[in-house]
Amino acid sequence: MNFDPDIADRLAAIRARIAAALAAAARAPDAACLIAVAKTFGAEAVQAALEAGQRVFGENRVQEAMGKYPALRAAHPDLELHLIGPLQTNKAKEAVATFDAIHTLDRPKLAAALAAEMARTGKRPKLFVQVNTGSEPQKAGVLPEAADAFLAECRDVHGLAIAGLMCIPPVADVPAPHFAFLAQIAKRNGLSALSMGMSGDFETALALGATHIRVGSAIFGSR
Ligand SMILES: *Cc1c(COP(=O)(O)O)cnc(C)c1O
Repeated sequence: MNFDPDIADRLAAIRARIAAALAAAARAPDAACLIAVAKTFGAEAVQAALEAGQRVFGENRVQEAMGKYPALRAAHPDLELHLIGPLQTNKAKEAVATFDAIHTLDRPKLAAALAAEMARTGKRPKLFVQVNTGSEPQKAGVLPEAADAFLAECRDVHGLAIAGLMCIPPVADVPAPHFAFLAQIAKRNGLSALSMGMSGDFETALALGATHIRVGSAIFGSR
């Protein structure tokens, strides 16, 4: 059991920090969406966040989300669920059925599978293309130099509307240059949404234009 009565307090503190960071950047108070990343925590932790007014949640595994959210969604129809972890092509069907947004589109086969499933079901999850801004060999995401062509392929070959870009900077790097780089790729491709920033660096991300921040441990505790 991961239930933590401090979740409401931590959420309030994060919201205050988001408001301050947005104000400091002269951005509108509602310019960024807080995604509460509940991976590894149980439904009771999500329930505590729901009771504190949080409605947008992130998970990095399809299977875990499928087990955790049905009852929570039934009780809170306005709950929004975002997939922030890697997606296997053979899970595209479950992902489209389960998530309102997918942040990890990064290859043509997956674009094709998502497009087919979206056409079949009429469901339209918001899509982000993940960019491997640090060009790390082990990390998911399209390489920066291939991003423009992949975005064009999503649009022209697969008919997908892409909302924006997502990145996870290398752990050893200062994150700001990665956030600025992602914003630059988004801008030249006419994309407005930027999914960047986690517990340790969301204020930096907000200063550099993040529209979606993915915060886990600062809300739910360490994993
Ligand atoms: C786990 C995870 C997060 C949240 O990380 P914290 O440091 O706990 O805030 C954000 N983004 C992705 C892709 C994750 O997997």
